[in-house]
Amino acid sequence: MRAVVTTGDGGVRIDSVPEPTLQDPQDAIVQVEHTGICGTDLHVVQGHLPGVQAGTVLGHEFVGTVLAVGGAVTSVKVGDRVVGTDFTACGHCWHCRRQEHWQCPQRAFLGTGTSFGPALVGAQAEQVRVPFADTVLAMLPRDLDPATAVLLCDNFPTGFAAAQKSRIGPGDVVAVVGGGMVGQLAAVAAQLHGASVVVVSDPVEARQAAATSTGNLATAPDRLVPTLHDLTAGRGADVVIEAVGSAKGLDAALVACRPGGTVVSVSAHVQESWNFPLADAFAREITLQMVIGDPLRDRDRMIALAVSGLLAPARDLMNTTDLRNAVDAYSDVAHSRALKIVLTV
Ligand SMILES: [Zn+2]
Ligand SMILES: [Zn+2]
Repeated sequence: MRAVVTTGDGGVRIDSVPEPTLQDPQDAIVQVEHTGICGTDLHVVQGHLPGVQAGTVLGHEFVGTVLAVGGAVTSVKVGDRVVGTDFTACGHCWHCRRQEHWQCPQRAFLGTGTSFGPALVGAQAEQVRVPFADTVLAMLPRDLDPATAVLLCDNFPTGFAAAQKSRIGPGDVVAVVGGGMVGQLAAVAAQLHGASVVVVSDPVEARQAAATSTGNLATAPDRLVPTLHDLTAGRGADVVIEAVGSAKGLDAALVACRPGGTVVSVSAHVQESWNFPLADAFAREITLQMVIGDPLRDRDRMIALAVSGLLAPARDLMNTTDLRNAVDAYSDVAHSRALKIVLTV
């Protein structure tokens, strides 16, 4: 079957790979119909993750139709249209029962080699094997456009978790550092949690325009602090969501945060360490929180919000193209010519 794989030298190619088979009674095989390209995929392609071999099938965001199920699967059946999640979890262990699915010892992250658990072949392919299908797969709501549903696998729960964990209160001024799709959806989620103003900073003008189109203010990075100071009598943002995934992004977030405020870092970090300004952060009583989205924990809320139309403006910011065009699509995402591309299979 056709799949998008890493070349090992910073690129991708379309390759022919074996079709997946059921390996466990809890598995399902899904015929992929829509699969997103995400910032994490770029880390995989560019060699930033330690456990990725050349030829790794990419992708962890998918919507499709169930082709086969193992004998223990009860919640989905052949022919069901389903939406997945970016990582798997058993659904029964101590962490899963606490709604901390990312910490499940049986976590596997699709399409990222062995970087976050045992290797699990990615979803940018005609078919994908899904372990713990009863936990991982949800029925695709009939009224939800499948490309929008791709956002439920990772980007929206990630942005939502950032807003939720930051404990934004009604009237708070929120800054979002980084206007990729996670940053855009974090801004939407911040509005939902009661922010009075959300300011998104990004160097790319199209991303600033995207943020404005969904009801936020937008600035270039060098204008973020002056803009926040104008809005807050010089204090800075109550909450800053860092959605870049870099030391530079964290530095910018700390500077934008008011004394006593909260910085939430939500994008995938691949850098080993970061020079944290300890004395300054202590004196200003900054709360710093690292957050990973949990599409399993938050899926029912995400689906309800998506069906209500909350993601319709974000859908307008997305492009779709055939999986055969994946090489160009990856290039467009890597060079910020597109905010989000969904491959159709
Ligand atoms: Zn993703
Ligand atoms: Zn578990």
